Amino acid sequence: WAARLKQGLSRTRDQLGSQFASLFNGGKIDEAVYEELETILLTADVGVAATQSLLEQVRARVKRQSLSDTHQLREALKQSLLELLLTLEQPLHTTHKPFVIMLAGVNGAGKTTTIGKLARQFQAEGKSVLIAAGDTFRAAAREQLQAWGERNQVQVISQQSGDAAAVMFDAVNAAQARGIDIVLADTAGRLPTQLNLMEEIRKVQRVINKALPGAPHEVLLVLDANTGQNAVTQVKAFDDALGVTGLVLSKLDGSAKGGVIAAIAQARPIPIRYIGVGENIDDLRPFKAAEFVDALFA
Ligand code: GDP
Repeated sequence: WAARLKQGLSRTRDQLGSQFASLFNGGKIDEAVYEELETILLTADVGVAATQSLLEQVRARVKRQSLSDTHQLREALKQSLLELLLTLEQPLHTTHKPFVIMLAGVNGAGKTTTIGKLARQFQAEGKSVLIAAGDTFRAAAREQLQAWGERNQVQVISQQSGDAAAVMFDAVNAAQARGIDIVLADTAGRLPTQLNLMEEIRKVQRVINKALPGAPHEVLLVLDANTGQNAVTQVKAFDDALGVTGLVLSKLDGSAKGGVIAAIAQARPIPIRYIGVGENIDDLRPFKAAEFVDALFA
């Protein structure tokens, strides 16, 4: 997996790598070096706030440890980034039965793919899974999930009616009646600016809670790493509307914008439960800060 992750982060690393190589060349640390580092971080989608915060940490570390050359500065940056990201390393524990996971995100973020991967991974752990096909706006999404469920022996609850809240109510009740371990509740893609749709997903969440107090136990926001700084906007808006409890950062493999992870950590320190670096089941893995930083600086 370390190799896969390294490969997955190759575009972000390539972008950073050559710039880091010339910056961290062993020369003396001076103001010009800090300025260049600031520019590099900003162009890597780390964002203004996280860049300032990281630079402060790095400067403090340099002072505290009396570091003098840029090889040491590289280590100081690595450590500071690790510290920031470690706060987000909180793997998902499915503590209730059924454990209801509601997924949210914009269209194309990777929700359906994530549901497929999670369903198979939970099954492999011996857990029973039920999928609630709550994307009632796209008939194709419902059919796709149903076909997928049949192929993989996963129960899928869906409705023709087009009422996502009703699908969720049925699904949670069915899961309780059938002794299911995990409910994966899909929702339609939506933009934070579509206020009526944001209200609709709040209703979906309320109805899940009505069917099973305490649920959804996890509100998982799926983010496409390629969206860069826009991901930060999405995190804030979905969190304000729903109280997001975990993030999935998908498509890191195609993206040169992996630095956005630091921007998210700075803006809303919500645990990153999983990262996605490809389309295979195994390409979705729990987020480990040290692995991530190692792959970035490899
Ligand atoms: P949804 O609209 O949020 O349900 O998004 P989908 O799950 O349908 O994903 C949109 C596209 O992104 C599909 O073509 C997926 O195969 C692709 N995709 C999802 N996750 C990843 C990933 O981690 N890496 C890559 N390369 N592609 C992904």
